[in-house]
Amino acid sequence: MSDVKRITHHINGAYWTGSAERSGDVYNPATGKITGKVDFASVAVVDQAIEIATRAQAEWRNASLAKRVQVLFAFREILNARKEEVARLITAEHGKVLSDALGEVTRGLEVVEFACGIPHLLKGSYSEGASTSIDVYSIRQPLGVSAIISPFNFPAMVPMWFFPIAIAAGNAVIIKPSEKDPSPVNLIAEFWKEAGLPDGVFNVLHGDKVAVDRLLEHPGIASISFVGSTPIARYIYETGTKNGKRVQALGGAKNHMLVLPDADLDLAADAAVNAGFGSAGERCMAISALVAIEPVADALVKKISDRMATLKTGDGTQGSDMGPLVTAVHRDKVASYVDAGVREGAALVVDGRNPKINGAAEGFWLGPTLFDRVTPEMSIYTDEIFGPVLSVIRVQSYDEGLALINKHQYGNGTAIFTNDGGAARRFQNEVQVGMIGINVPIPVPTAYYSFGGWKNSLFGDTHAHGTEGVHFFTRGKVVTSRWLDPS
Ligand code: NAD
Repeated sequence: MSDVKRITHHINGAYWTGSAERSGDVYNPATGKITGKVDFASVAVVDQAIEIATRAQAEWRNASLAKRVQVLFAFREILNARKEEVARLITAEHGKVLSDALGEVTRGLEVVEFACGIPHLLKGSYSEGASTSIDVYSIRQPLGVSAIISPFNFPAMVPMWFFPIAIAAGNAVIIKPSEKDPSPVNLIAEFWKEAGLPDGVFNVLHGDKVAVDRLLEHPGIASISFVGSTPIARYIYETGTKNGKRVQALGGAKNHMLVLPDADLDLAADAAVNAGFGSAGERCMAISALVAIEPVADALVKKISDRMATLKTGDGTQGSDMGPLVTAVHRDKVASYVDAGVREGAALVVDGRNPKINGAAEGFWLGPTLFDRVTPEMSIYTDEIFGPVLSVIRVQSYDEGLALINKHQYGNGTAIFTNDGGAARRFQNEVQVGMIGINVPIPVPTAYYSFGGWKNSLFGDTHAHGTEGVHFFTRGKVVTSRWLDPS
């Protein structure tokens, strides 16, 4: 047991010293071994964290913009200097390969850099002389204590979509990371402390539904930013808003890539492989449905399967292209979709069950899998699988492909591959999806734009980061003032 570490809450600038009534196992997915025990917060611990955060926020909201930017800059420098450490923790608990893990931290870092511009982002407007001696101006103020509940698949980046802006705007935050890979956020809490953020402004609570439900009902929580699966996102949105909180809840996805007959098929095949199997398909922006407009399907499927043959599946620290899945349960669930695809009559072109791997046999492995001739009623098409399974759907026209995408319950990301600018322009206008790539397979917006999907991929009005993020973490006031002329 000696190499099983305890992972606990980070509250008020320090690790919690109490003893937890409940805990969860944390695995290294590449070895299948338990490497940590994570404490699960009770209602009393959640209440304690909220009380501390509330007190800290009352002061932090009055810290000058100059001071807040100083702390953010210092945090940015520390995170940048120590990003490899964060990446190693991600790989150790999530399983994604180190280069992916580092990429994740870098995308989070971009939001920190965006948040460093908070003095500009918080500027209000001013109308002199709206009426005689009357001026009108607007200001934006922080909300209070913001809760952030994040999924397993981006244990560092997803929290970073929210907390840099929340803190820069003068809020305190409580992060409840996924219990599957809880360590990266704890290291980030240490970075904040070193950067000079006052204790209590950034807090990490570990746990499960008990902690989440308390955050949802406690009157001391002003806003909830949630990212996870659609059923839980819907629950979070409905419960949080019923309790009077501001909520943004990002849910699941099924991202389509539409390939037009005029597309560069090598570019499309490279994109499909990277976007389908990168991070073992455990990305909310992964491509899982490739819609090929005939007559290109045969050629495209051949190019994709040729490329798949070169992918190395194995331990993410050993130069592999694709790591394991996060848990044995999740691996089995994804594998059961492969079984279902075969049963339902899709053509299994590349079978990832029983893969050749570079790593321990007990790891949670599933190799890249490719289905062809998938039809819209099959479960491998209707459901979010969240694993390395790519389905090719053959259609006869652009209209048929577009209708398919627009009919799907999810609308997170999509991509079109074509050399026809007019077709791409029409697609961006007609498709019912929040983020669109044109010859770009994973169109994750840069930090100064906002991230979010449509339909069952997002509940709430506000997307993550960018100016929408600033809006979410602040509340507007308008002041109408009269000062008479000096007599
Ligand atoms: P999940 O919904 O199982 O868990 C997300 C968070 O909710 C975790 O912190 C978890 O502890 C908590 N949670 C789980 N069950 C709960 C319950 N019954 N009540 C309250 N809280 C609960 O999601 P996951 O498996 O960690 O992550 C994968 C999912 O996240 C996929 O569906 C993926 O598409 C989605 N995701 C979406 C985006 C996006 O931007 N739309 C980004 C990343 C991940």
